[in-house]
Amino acid sequence: MKPEMRIGYGWDSHEFKSEIPLKIGGLTLPHDKGLGGHSDGDVLLHAITDALLGAIAGPDIGSLFPPSDPQWRNADSALFLREALQRVKTAGYELVNLDSTLILSAPKIGPHADAIRKHVAELCGIPVDCVGIKAKTPEGMGTDNAAIANVAVLLKRSESNDIEDSCDVLTVIEPRCV
Ligand SMILES: [Zn+2]
Repeated sequence: MKPEMRIGYGWDSHEFKSEIPLKIGGLTLPHDKGLGGHSDGDVLLHAITDALLGAIAGPDIGSLFPPSDPQWRNADSALFLREALQRVKTAGYELVNLDSTLILSAPKIGPHADAIRKHVAELCGIPVDCVGIKAKTPEGMGTDNAAIANVAVLLKRSESNDIEDSCDVLTVIEPRCV
């Protein structure tokens, strides 16, 4: 019998680079620098993806989407999240809630936290009040040129094991169930 609940934890960091858009939680935030990386550098979506994959003891994001593979160059990180959610569903689980802490010196996340929370909730197909977005500045850490994301997720066992019976992840995102 599968455990009724599972937790997952994800961590990621990216370095700030000039003249690229700053993507956090699937949104583009106004800032003079963005996060470098092979994909769009969305540190929060990467940490959520790894937390989901970790919760089902799956392969990590780097194994599924290797930076050496040119098809993930500048990729929208929502693709990685969608794959992780699909794997969670295939494993017979669903996401209950997630909590995150971002650590970055700038820009301030507070003014954007509600928009990020809403967008992440839509991407994950969970209620807005099941997404925690917190932010800290990196006091004494010497990581002013990086953004770091820590994420915890809770999964519960799906009530129906009939995965054909429910909306697929893409439909939840779209958001229609046909
Ligand atoms: Zn990353």
